[in-house]
Amino acid sequence: MEKETESFKHTKAAEMILLLDRVYKEIEEAEAEWMARCPIKCIDGCGACCIHFEPEIYEVEALYLASWLVFHQRERALQILEGKFNENVMDKENGCLLFDIDNPYHCTVYGGRCLICRLFGYSGDRGKDFSVRWRPCKYLVSMDKNLSASKIKQYSQNDLMDTFGTLPPVMSDFTSRILCFMTEGSSHPIPMREALPAAISKILMLEKYSHNPEFEPDTDPETPPLAS
Ligand code: SF4
Ligand code: SF4
Repeated sequence: MEKETESFKHTKAAEMILLLDRVYKEIEEAEAEWMARCPIKCIDGCGACCIHFEPEIYEVEALYLASWLVFHQRERALQILEGKFNENVMDKENGCLLFDIDNPYHCTVYGGRCLICRLFGYSGDRGKDFSVRWRPCKYLVSMDKNLSASKIKQYSQNDLMDTFGTLPPVMSDFTSRILCFMTEGSSHPIPMREALPAAISKILMLEKYSHNPEFEPDTDPETPPLAS
């Protein structure tokens, strides 16, 4: 994310985005390890989990996505900010606005997507005894004929070790990592539709101030928290 944050580097927002980028890279590594051992995979071009789902996101995730959009899809970012974005979704009420029904990959912001989007399907949770569990998504398919995702409701930690010899990444472990570098007043998630315009506005303002020779990079000019 260095190039996406270059125009407002040395700000607190850029620092937080780069910290989140490190967490996202760790997720990629943990998932690659898990996927190398687990033969149950998403169907190519599925995207069913995004049709009726809108992520609730933390401020830092919104800033990450906003800076990715401003850099790679500036026109769309401006449309979202101005409320002129023409969504191509199946469910405008509950679905993600960045889903595109006609795009073969469906997610139109893959490089900037949020934490849950990176982990859904390939992560587990923890039971009351803190052990890891994994419930395969009902659409996941097995590349191994002896394993059928639709027949397996949930794997316990012992099942996971016996079957795959490893454990999946745990969603809450990564969520708690990002909570560590939240700013005050921004530590609860809000729907993406609310969070994104505010984050885009903040990134554009930081860009503008960063080009001002009087701008002091350690300060965060006129930047209210995304949620009140
Ligand atoms: S997690 Fe499930 S619904 Fe989402 S893309 Fe994978 S198979 Fe499809
Ligand atoms: S950002 Fe992409 S992956 Fe995440 S919910 Fe929206 S369309 Fe799905």
